[in-house]
Formats: sequence, C-alpha cells, structure tokens
Amino acid sequence: AAQKETHGFQTEVKQLLQLMIHSLYSNKEIFLRELVSNAADAADKLRFRALENDSLYENDGELNVKLSVDKEANTVTITDNGIGMTRDEVIANLGTIAKSGTKDFFSKLSGDSAKDSQLIGQFGVGFYSAFIVADKVTVRTRAAGADASTGVEWVSDGEGEFTIAEINKPTRGTEITLHLREDEKEFADTWRLRSIVSKYSDHISIPVQMWKDEVPEREGPDGEKIEAQPGEWEVVNKATALWTREKSDITDEEYNEFYKHISHDFADPLAWAHNKVEGKTEYTSLLYIPSKAPFDMWNRDQNHGLKLYVQRVFIMDDAEQFMPTYLRFVKGLLDSNDLPLNVSREILQDNKITQALRQGCTKRVLQMLEKMAKNDSDKYQSFWNEFGNVLKEGPAEDFSNREKIAGLLRFASTHGESDAQTVSLADYIERMKEGQDKIYYVTADSLQAAKSSPHLEIFRKKGIEVLLMGERIDEWLMSHLTEFNEKQFVSIAKGNLDLGDLEDEESKKAQEEAEKEVEGVLERAKAALGDKVVDVKFTHRLTDSPAVIVADDNGMTTQMMKLMQAAGQ
Ligand code: ADP
Ligand code: MG
Repeated sequence: AAQKETHGFQTEVKQLLQLMIHSLYSNKEIFLRELVSNAADAADKLRFRALENDSLYENDGELNVKLSVDKEANTVTITDNGIGMTRDEVIANLGTIAKSGTKDFFSKLSGDSAKDSQLIGQFGVGFYSAFIVADKVTVRTRAAGADASTGVEWVSDGEGEFTIAEINKPTRGTEITLHLREDEKEFADTWRLRSIVSKYSDHISIPVQMWKDEVPEREGPDGEKIEAQPGEWEVVNKATALWTREKSDITDEEYNEFYKHISHDFADPLAWAHNKVEGKTEYTSLLYIPSKAPFDMWNRDQNHGLKLYVQRVFIMDDAEQFMPTYLRFVKGLLDSNDLPLNVSREILQDNKITQALRQGCTKRVLQMLEKMAKNDSDKYQSFWNEFGNVLKEGPAEDFSNREKIAGLLRFASTHGESDAQTVSLADYIERMKEGQDKIYYVTADSLQAAKSSPHLEIFRKKGIEVLLMGERIDEWLMSHLTEFNEKQFVSIAKGNLDLGDLEDEESKKAQEEAEKEVEGVLERAKAALGDKVVDVKFTHRLTDSPAVIVADDNGMTTQMMKLMQAAGQ
C-alpha cells in the first residue's frame, strides 16, 4: 500500500491562498482558465522535449485537455496528457511559489484585504486558484516517459498542508480533481464549464474536450427514424494557435485572454502589436505592454523576455535575446520560421537571425508606444508612470534608437504647476523662446531639490522653461543624450552657462559695472577656500541666493559625483 507523506505549504503559499479566497469571490470562474492554461503549457513542454526523444509520446501524440463533471460526487476533473510531473516537481510546484521576490511581495501586504486584493492582480494566482471553488483538490500525475509505478498523488484541503503518495498511473500527464465547496455546485455543470471555456480558453492551441452524451434513437421532423448517436469527446474551443490567425478574426477579448495565458498576469494588457513578417526573415510576433509593472521589475534575477516558438512549436520561455533590457516589461511571443527547432539559448546568443528578430521586435514596441503617445495620451501617461524609469535606460543601451526613445520620454518642468512627468521634448521645443536653441535641464536628488535649485533663478526671471529631473536614473540618462531634434541638451548646473542670444546687451553692460564695484571679493574668497575649489567666479545667474557651487564644464555634475560616491567609486 502507498505510503502517505504530509508536507506543509511554504508560508507564502498559505498567505496567497488566504488572500485569494477573500479577494476573488466575484471572479471565481477563472480557476478553469488557470488550470487549462497549465495543461496547455504542459502540452507545449512535452512537444518540445519530444523533438529530441519521440518515445516520450508513448504512442499517444494527440495532445489535449479533457474536462469532465460528476454531479453526484460534486467534482470537476481536468485531465491532460502533457509532460506530467515527477514527485520532486510536484512538491516544488504545488507547495511553493517559484517566483523570485515573493517573500518581499508578501511582506508588503498590509493585512487590509481590500488593499491587498489589488496586489494579487500583479501576482497571478495559477494552480492555487483551484481552492477558490474547491475545499479539496486531488492531483494525480506521472511524468512523460517514466514508469507507470512512478505516479504521484497530491491531496490538499488548502489549509496549510498537503499529502503525497506514490501511485500507479498508466497514462502520462496530469489529472486534477476539484471537490467543489458546498456553495459552488453550479460549476458541476457541463454547460457552465463549456461557456467558461469559450470565454477564457478559446485561444488555447490544443483541443479542450468535453464528453457529449449519447443521443438515443428518435424521430425526425418528417417522422423518419434518426439513429442513436454514441457518446463522444467533443472539442469545445477553437484550438488554433491565436497568433497564427488573421488579425481581423481576433477579438480584443481573445487578445486579452491570450495575454493572461502567456504572461501569467491577472490584469488586462494596456496595448499589443500583432505582426506577420514575410521576406528574408519570416516570423510572427505578438507583443504586449502590461498595464501594471510587476512587483519584481527591479529585481535583477527576475525572468523576462519572449516566449519563443519555431514553426509553431514551443521552444522556451523568457528568451531575453529578442528584447533589449530597457524594454524588459514587454511580454509576448515570437514564432520564427528561420531558426532551427533544436535552437538553444547558447545558439541564440550569437546569431544573425536573433539580431534581426531583436531589431524587428524593438521597432514594433517603439512604434506601438509612439502610436499610443500620439493617439491616446492618457493611456500613454499611465504607461509612463509604470515603466518610464525603465525606458530611460534606453538611450544608453540602444544607440541606434536614441532619437526615437528620446521622443518617448516625459519630464516634469518649470512650465505649469504640476509635478507630474508629462512634458515631452517636442512640447518643450515648441515652447522655446525666440533665440533659444538649447534644451535646458537640471538634475537633483529629488524633484523637490530640482525645483528649488538656485540655478533656476535666472531662467525663471527670463521665463525660459527648464526640465526638472529628480530620479536616480536621470543623471545616467542625460549622460547619454546629447541632443534631440538637433537641439543640444544643457545642464544649467554646469560652469559657464552661455545663454547666447538670450542674453541682452544692456544687462551685459550693467553686469560688468557691478563686477567692478566689488573687485577684491573674488581674491579674498579664493584665498579663503584654497584648493577646495578649482575657481571662484562672478555669476549673474542668481537673483536671490548669494552663491552657488557649480561643476566644471568638462567634469561631472555634482549629482553625478554623489552617485559615484554612493556607488563607492
Ligand atoms: P505558472 O503556470 O505561472 O508557472 P502555476 O501556479 O499555474 O504557475 O503552476 C505552477 C507550476 O506547476 C507550473 O509552472 C508547472 O511547472 C506545474 N504544473 C501545474 N499544472 C501542471 C500540469 N497540468 N502539468 C504539468 N505541470 C503542471
Ligand atoms: Mg499557470
């Protein structure tokens, strides 16, 4: 007889289960989407592994998911013939949360369930969503290619523990049985399940099947005899890979649901671009911009990148080679006709086709953002608020697209009262004063510090707009941007600020006279400061403050120095 072992869930899993049951009561049916999505992933993984080892199919190459209902037992069962899991995989996958940064995420929860339920959207719920409708879940699984005796049964009531037992399972793959809660009996209904599948899982590329009962012999409309139809498994979804379909045939809902399937995100995406490219390189790309930044966007080892298919066969998740780092928030897939089926991460690393695909995908994303900025500035603003600081890494990383990226940047500025980053460089240039040919900006530790910079005084007086930068990344950004639209960027905190044509003759004369009046002050200041400074100069840039420290023209700005110091340089 099988030995049962009891294991405890990882603390974070317990927290997730609690949070989920409380926050998803109005959206219970998504459990089916998550389980069907996992079954489809399992089919993809098997197909990939079978490229090298055909025997994994065990003479059953028709991959599918089957849904069945037992009204009397009050159960729903989801069965797939995908890759299956070994005992160790079951314990890791259905007992812990594998995402990096998870601990951090849960430590931020407030305990206020209304607030916390907002957060769960960013997190995704996956397999554990089964417990929204079930008070007991049984998983029976066996890895493809393994012996029937290596089957595993996992059982849990979602309260904190699960049991594991060895079973004999002749068929490969995973079978998940949900023992429905007393008040969730409505899901033990074929029609209900069918409608949930067509709502959420139409785009899944393997067939989702449901049992159709036999139809007994009966009479037709003209009294003719119609023979009994035997029962059969019937396909209830479209079962065509969504990205291979014509754009015009795909609804927004289908694009949204497909996004959730491939991204494991919970919320709708903000935008997408679906393109078929033919010619020298042939590929289809479907690229999405999420609506919210993931909780682990700044985590260095978080996974990102596209899902890679080659001729419709799934190859790998998180192929980073196709997206530059500054677009790491993009989710989506790439289906190439040119890469070999046995492509590996190593081969991708140094490959001409990879480069062409990466350029193509980068172009698509930048175009999608340009279009959004042009046609829907509210939407673009919400994109910027989530991902703007990532995009700012662009000019340093992607020289060839520098000008395009610069056009997508948004800044706070001295124009208007708002602190929000809403000003584009094009806006700025349009408002430039007559005679102005530079784009002026100031960087500081915070927006507040930038706003109260003494360097701003002369610009305020003359009514010249200055871009205000108070984010950590801004200094780095500006060290890689020299001009936009042929207008040079000038930090107002640097040495001899030349206002060029903006300076008028009269005030120049007045300044010279004023300098004569206080002759000697400079020498005394220089003597007092010694070699703490390079030089002491008169300035006419200040109107209220008596003095200001400026950086050398050729040197770093004070802000950059602080950054270097902080980095231990
Ligand atoms: P995600 O799908 O985002 O990875 P889930 O919570 O949905 O997270 O699933 C956790 C893991 O459990 C999956 O990554 C997969 O490894 C495994 N898993 C879940 N369902 C199946 C299944 N039907 N067949 C094989 N493995 C599965
Ligand atoms: Mg999943």
